[in-house]
Amino acid sequence: MPRILILGGTTEARGLAERLAARPGLDITLSLAGRTIAPVALPVPVRSGGFGGAAGLVAYLGREQIDVLIDATHPYAKVMSANAADAARQTGVPFLALRRPPWTRMHGDRWTEVDDVAGAVAALGPSSRRVFVALGRNELAPVLEAPQHHYLIRSVDPVEPPLPLPRVAYVTGRGPFSEADDHALLALHRIEVVIAKNSGGTATYGKIAAARALGLDVIMLRRPAVPAAAAAETVEDAMAWLDQALTLAAARGV
Ligand code: NAP
Repeated sequence: MPRILILGGTTEARGLAERLAARPGLDITLSLAGRTIAPVALPVPVRSGGFGGAAGLVAYLGREQIDVLIDATHPYAKVMSANAADAARQTGVPFLALRRPPWTRMHGDRWTEVDDVAGAVAALGPSSRRVFVALGRNELAPVLEAPQHHYLIRSVDPVEPPLPLPRVAYVTGRGPFSEADDHALLALHRIEVVIAKNSGGTATYGKIAAARALGLDVIMLRRPAVPAAAAAETVEDAMAWLDQALTLAAARGV
């Protein structure tokens, strides 16, 4: 039975797992980093925690006799993506990167693009502003360098311990977020600028559309470079690639 390892943590990984779970004759494992306290339930077996770098993943692929590796991690999970491509190269395991396309600027968008969170904080400028921050709770350290701003921070799990900032509020939530809800949130907190990643997809686009409608600035973190690999942008495309890969594997007698 072909064994497929999906590196997850995204809506697409979940969607792919759901599609594959409905197919008999496949042995699927979904891997999570283990950062989220209560991940969404999944229809396939889940393993959790790092592999121990590319070398650890190479060992895992061998030990578990994985036939196909799919990197469906978030576009900003650059270490895991690099390790996955590296491990696939070392082992020769067929490999696909499933990555949703980035959002593109639309008429009315007021985006400033920066390379990282420190760059985003610098781009806020010296005067106090009201800032909505939609980043992972482990990525917030640079905001401590700019305590003059009012921050509203949204994360999946609570930020613990709270940040030592004079003006900060928190909201927890897991997408999808609607434009209407994000519009109301930004208006309620009189937000002036949004710091966001260019995640792509619909689940977290609400804040971008709401910022446009409200005429707010968005400081957008540029996507990190991705390793060269076969790539798909949708679950549908990944399924088509997988069908081919499994046909080839069957021909090899897997
Ligand atoms: P990262 O910086 O690229 O990864 C750091 C380390 O975490 C990796 O080297 C690996 O440890 C472990 N890891 C990451 N993803 C893993 C997975 N799916 N299964 C097993 N181990 C994994 O990644 P990150 O940005 O911290 O993201 C962590 C997870 O959150 C990913 O699953 C990602 O899809 C999800 N996520 C990330 C973002 C984001 O903005 N970065 C947003 C939403 C969801 P070892 O080296 O020990 O193997």
